Amino acid sequence: DLDTREWQRRDASHHLHPFTDHQQLRDKGARIITRGEGVYLIDSEGRRILDGMAGLWCVNMGYGCEELIAAAERQMRELPYYNLFFQTAHPPAIELASLLAEVTPPGFNQVFFTGSGSECNDTVLRMVRHYWACQGKPERQVIISRRNAYHGSTVAGASLGGMRGMHEQGSLPIPGIVHIDQPYHFGEGQGMSPHEFGLARARQLEQKLLELGPDKVAAFIGEPIQGAGGVIIPPESYWPEVQRICDHYGILLIADEVICGFGRTGSWFGCDTFGIRPDFMCLAKGITSGYVPLGAVMVSDRVAGVIERGGEFAHGFTYSGHPVSCAVAIANIRLMQKESIVKRVHDRIAPYLQRRWAELSALPIVGETRGKGMVAALEIVQDKHSKTRFPATAHAGLTCREFCFDNGLVMRAVGDTMIISPPLVITETEVDNLVDLARRSLELTAERLLV
Ligand code: PLP
Repeated sequence: DLDTREWQRRDASHHLHPFTDHQQLRDKGARIITRGEGVYLIDSEGRRILDGMAGLWCVNMGYGCEELIAAAERQMRELPYYNLFFQTAHPPAIELASLLAEVTPPGFNQVFFTGSGSECNDTVLRMVRHYWACQGKPERQVIISRRNAYHGSTVAGASLGGMRGMHEQGSLPIPGIVHIDQPYHFGEGQGMSPHEFGLARARQLEQKLLELGPDKVAAFIGEPIQGAGGVIIPPESYWPEVQRICDHYGILLIADEVICGFGRTGSWFGCDTFGIRPDFMCLAKGITSGYVPLGAVMVSDRVAGVIERGGEFAHGFTYSGHPVSCAVAIANIRLMQKESIVKRVHDRIAPYLQRRWAELSALPIVGETRGKGMVAALEIVQDKHSKTRFPATAHAGLTCREFCFDNGLVMRAVGDTMIISPPLVITETEVDNLVDLARRSLELTAERLLV
């Protein structure tokens, strides 16, 4: 029953937030979110805010989903915790493992559970090196990733990721991880067609492999669509060329599907959307619609056979495959199947969202709109024709983000790129509302910045 100011005071007194400037937090106070309902959040002032980001790209089935709540409650009563170490298992983990084998692409029949997306990437880093050691090639150590990728906040996750700010704060990356450029056509592809640019960026992988020596390289990791980096949708030429290079040099391909998985891109997985055939898929977020923490590394049959023959893999987490998380994931996936969510996204709501979103490209401060499935982005620019950005001191993205909040919409800013990733269950009317609120906020941003 506290009022907003008291919540904010207590928060600022005792709480260190992730990815937050605490000086700004003290000046303005945190936004206190108290409830969720469908695609809406309700704050401590009773305002309804359309959650255009589905939390952190995860609340795919929306807030207040009774099936997920009931599954958690049932499992809490039955077996609130047990682990999977030392030859033990429990029914929710066993059932979820076979369900994941059913919904992931052919050739994936084994899963290693974790508690988060970051832990998936830590797991995969150790697993690929263990795989090569089991194959008598321990010198294959290097993992190639991309600048501006996001693979989590643990030491391995942040090292695999390519966020400069994260590297600077922790003396990262750890040895054995190198980065090539991202396939960001709007930002970095001037003078090249998307096709040429996609090929050029993919071929950086080959150049890096040859520079390092292919026999030193263990794997390449990438998000099918880079999410936190700014919804970087690769040109169509990109992934087939990356796949060709991985196949040619025999290096393992890791798809970080933490955002793209479970319907976000209009297929069950981003790999289905882009025709990628990886050796590992890292899953989290949408696996439980974010209701409880869970991660899962899908391991291809080819790799799993080697790992299984390699003795004990000395790795695991207390909350690997937590029974409550597995029970919620089962309920979530079954509900997605029952309501044909992926088909609805693909056939109906994603085309509608993308059509409406593209209308924003007519605004004077929008240099590009882009999207795939249920993610989309737009680029704020000062000059539409030359696509010149505002000076960094204008904080155009943050300004727009604040106008969005004030207008009742969560939209994320990555620099001056605005992004959305709404719940997959959003309706057409709610999409209309989202686009109207985004338009209004962009107009206010233009009024403020173009004086
Ligand atoms: N990988 C990707 C692609 C992500 O977007 C994220 C989180 O946003 C992670 C990994 C890390 O997941 P978590 O925050 O659950 O550790």
